[in-house]
Amino acid sequence: MSLIVVGTMAFDDIETPFGKSDRIIGGAATYIAWSASNFTRPIKQVSVVGGDFPKKEMTALEERGVSMEGVQVKENEKSFFWAGKYHMDMNTRDTLDTQLNVLADFNPVVPESYQDCEFLMLGNLVPAVQLSVIQQLKTRPKLVVMDTMNFWMEVALDDLKKVLKQVDVLMVNDSEARELSNEYSLVKAARKIMNMGPNYLVIKKGEHGALLFHGDQVFFAPALPLEDVFDPTGAGDTFAGGFIGHIARTKDISFENMKTAIIIGSAMASFCVEKFGTERLREITKEDIDKRLAQFQELVNFDIELV
Ligand code: AMP
Repeated sequence: MSLIVVGTMAFDDIETPFGKSDRIIGGAATYIAWSASNFTRPIKQVSVVGGDFPKKEMTALEERGVSMEGVQVKENEKSFFWAGKYHMDMNTRDTLDTQLNVLADFNPVVPESYQDCEFLMLGNLVPAVQLSVIQQLKTRPKLVVMDTMNFWMEVALDDLKKVLKQVDVLMVNDSEARELSNEYSLVKAARKIMNMGPNYLVIKKGEHGALLFHGDQVFFAPALPLEDVFDPTGAGDTFAGGFIGHIARTKDISFENMKTAIIIGSAMASFCVEKFGTERLREITKEDIDKRLAQFQELVNFDIELV
């Protein structure tokens, strides 16, 4: 009765107009776990790190109810490394470097104790690894959510399309949706992508919010206008963590509940960008989250009398 999270645990080098980080802890599964653990526990992590990954980072996650049994540690190898640079428009970024390291030949092994999981969050990772995790589960989870990235569309499109056939919800950003579908219109892109497998599609648009598509229905969640945006890295993963965390807590996979889930995802992402890396996610409390959700309610609540 819990959630499996799959994805990278990594080192990142980040440059934004407001500063530069040295190698800091990142990775899709790291952000997802920090975010989702506010809503559901235990979380069962599947990932791989090298001997250079600090043990105290794994312990910090364990203290949040995140199991490391499915995280392989390859003592003599290096962890996944990513470097990115944001320009003044922080909705777009350039990847400066991607070093797969331990990820290059990663064969995930799903521990027996993970088999009871009802929800599966496939964070950004090699598509073949995402597929392998689905195939190792004896019972199909109630909901399988997948995140991916342009990098994998460029180097592993065929595998990515195989995973798409197996998932319920895909999360991508707007430029990735356009790249995957070859369509500029996001409505047309959504229709094409949903024909590739997922019944639900979330398109993230950075500071312009997120769209949830299902059949002919569409729902929009804004992003909270923030005074300071420091580092958008991990915002997408943090969004995914809030989304799946809420679904796993409520066990309700209806479209109506997914609307709430994307508001919660947006609220969590708004914390992530306020500081570098995972720093802000580590310090927020339930009270902070509740306050922010109230701000979201206020942001989109209005009365109209139709005449
Ligand atoms: P986001 O900003 O939500 O897209 O996620 C940023 C995180 O994704 C960083 O912490 C990176 O370590 C991780 N990342 C970057 N490129 C990849 C990739 N090709 N596959 C998996 N994770 C990645």
